[in-house]
Formats: sequence, C-alpha cells, structure tokens
Amino acid sequence: MRRPLVAGNWKMHGSRETVTQLVQSLLQSEVVGVDRVVFPSLIHLSSVVDAVSGQFSVGAQVCASQQEFGAFTGEVAAQQLADLGCQFVLVGHSERRQLFAETDAVVAQKFMAALQAGLIPVLCLGETLAERESEQTEQVVLRQLAAVLDVGGVSAIAKSVLAYEPVWAIGTGLTATPEQAQAVHKILREALAKKDAQVAELVRIVYGGSVKAASAAELFAMPDIDGGLVGGASLNAQEFAAICRAAEQ
Ligand code: PEP
Repeated sequence: MRRPLVAGNWKMHGSRETVTQLVQSLLQSEVVGVDRVVFPSLIHLSSVVDAVSGQFSVGAQVCASQQEFGAFTGEVAAQQLADLGCQFVLVGHSERRQLFAETDAVVAQKFMAALQAGLIPVLCLGETLAERESEQTEQVVLRQLAAVLDVGGVSAIAKSVLAYEPVWAIGTGLTATPEQAQAVHKILREALAKKDAQVAELVRIVYGGSVKAASAAELFAMPDIDGGLVGGASLNAQEFAAICRAAEQ
C-alpha cells in the first residue's frame, strides 16, 4: 500500500509575513495518513523548517547539480538543503526545464545530487500541449524517466517520488481528466515494472496540474495516482487542507 503524498509548490511567492501566516494556517489543519510537503522559496526554507516542527515535511524547489561544494555562485547544494532540515527537493519541474533550460541530463545530475545528500527527489515529468496533440506523451515522459534511470538505475527511482505534470495543465486551470492522468501514471509504473516489479509497486507517482479541492478526490481515486503536486491552490491553506483530506484513505 502506497501512502499518499500531497505537496505544495509555493514557487516564487510570498513575503516573510505571508509565509508565516500561511504556515500558521496550515498547522491548524489535521490530516491523517497523508504525507504533506511544502516547497517554499529558498530564502524562506529555514523559517518554515523551524515553524512546522515536524508536522509537515519541507522541500526546496531547486538544488545545484554539483555534488560537492565549490565555486558555483548563486547555487545551493543539496547537502546544504539537507543540513537546513529539508527532506525533499523538486527536480525537473517544467518551469525549470522551459525557463531555465534544464536538460534531461542536468535534471538527472540534480536528482543524483539530491540522493547523495539524503534528500528525496520529486522528479517532475510531463509533456507540452504540442507533444500531447502529436501523440508523443508516452515517448516524452519515458524519455524523461530514462534520463534518470540511465544514470541512477531503478534503485535510485525507488528512493524518489515521481510527479506527472502535463505542462499544459500547470497554472492554466486545465486539469487532466482522471482518466488521462491515470493512463500516463500507468505507463510510468509499467515502465518501472519492466526493471523491478517491487519498485514499481512501491514508488509514489503524484499528479500535478491545476489540482483544486474540487478535482482532487476524483484524481486521487485512480489506482496509480498517489496524491498531488499542487501549485496555485497550495497558497490557500483551506484549499490545500481540503486537497490533503481528499487524499486521506
Ligand atoms: C506546479 O507548479 O507544480 C503546479 C502543478 O502548479 P498548478 O497547481 O498551479 O498548476
């Protein structure tokens, strides 16, 4: 049985004041049987780690691809994130791939740097609208998965969470239907099963792309959807709590 996970990606939002308020509101909601993770901006990580005092996990939205400390101005090492109290890190989010030119190879390096530091990488995979319309969804997500498998093997994937995030659904208000999402989650799980059936059974694959409280329950009811990666709606504590409750079993 896979324990559901619901994650909130706060992206580049919030001031010290609004982040403090958001954390206080989140702490008031009680959810049972669901792993909850928040991904604040780097500069807010330390205060959020202190404030959530173990009730939530905290992750970073990025980490450096280099495994060792060094002269990489502006970068933050996965080891530094772990040292701060982070447990997770997003890798391969489509905004990083598209806006910051992170290639499959760079994503794989970041994934391995995260694992090396003891963090759980949340590997984001997903196709653009053009790729879906030209029936390349399967090819794209399997290519993105293979980039990590080739470097780390299936044992690396076993220590991660996968997030299927169709690019056309992120921040657009367009959610994949539960059937569309399930079909891709199944493809990913079947690809893993060819390498290792037990890993395929245990690894969590969450869905992301305009998840709201109203759409969450139907998505999370699908057999291969183990929770959500939530952007916009995670900035509203009540909405996020409702999405987490939808994942309760
Ligand atoms: C995301 O940024 O990962 C995301 C899924 O955003 P949104 O929920 O706003 O579509």
